[in-house]
Amino acid sequence: MHADLHTHSAASSDSTFRLQDRVSLAAEVGVDVVGVTDHTAVSPRLSAPISAAGDCVLIAGVELNCTVDGDRIDILGLFIEPEVMRDRVGSETHGSGITVDDGPDLTPSQLIGWIHEAGGVAVLAHPGRYRLDLVALLEELVAVGLDGIETDYAYDMAPVTGPHTPEAEIRELADRFELLSSGGSDCHGPGYNDGPYMGADGVGKAALAALCERATSTDAERDTPVVP
Ligand SMILES: [Zn+2]
Repeated sequence: MHADLHTHSAASSDSTFRLQDRVSLAAEVGVDVVGVTDHTAVSPRLSAPISAAGDCVLIAGVELNCTVDGDRIDILGLFIEPEVMRDRVGSETHGSGITVDDGPDLTPSQLIGWIHEAGGVAVLAHPGRYRLDLVALLEELVAVGLDGIETDYAYDMAPVTGPHTPEAEIRELADRFELLSSGGSDCHGPGYNDGPYMGADGVGKAALAALCERATSTDAERDTPVVP
């Protein structure tokens, strides 16, 4: 089982990838579970924290950002109730002209609070891409409720070279801070940084189940993603 829990669609201003195309691509490359994590927007096609699309399971998500000590950090919300998060960030679609500025005035605490309010799990995205002191950052984020960290990320596909912190070290930090493990490709679709690269990274069944169990939007027994 392969879950790619970090992907973008046309609801992100930097992607033109339609959700239905992503589902077809997932099937082609052997990805069973896709996290839909658009920038500051919830894809209008999502109506539940977990849904089925063809042979694939979709996890509703979002990617929010804020600035910490001059560096932009991204926090993923997974297993969110789409409607609740839309009340916060809107449901802009590419080209609609609606933008939501989640800029420098927001704090990690607020973003994590929004994700929890929507029943989701808050995960620090691509920790190896930041130049900040990761230990200090994690201390700050864990104190305000961070649930997980992207231990598995397709750094070699990312628009910046990296990681600045090796993945082995990130795994150690995950253990040390008792953070759940998440992972994904950060796929933006065709034409973006030589993409798509759906499925280039991700997590397996155990990590997915642990994330699902942490989410309060899901009744773990009822809603655990049934992987085809
Ligand atoms: Zn992303």
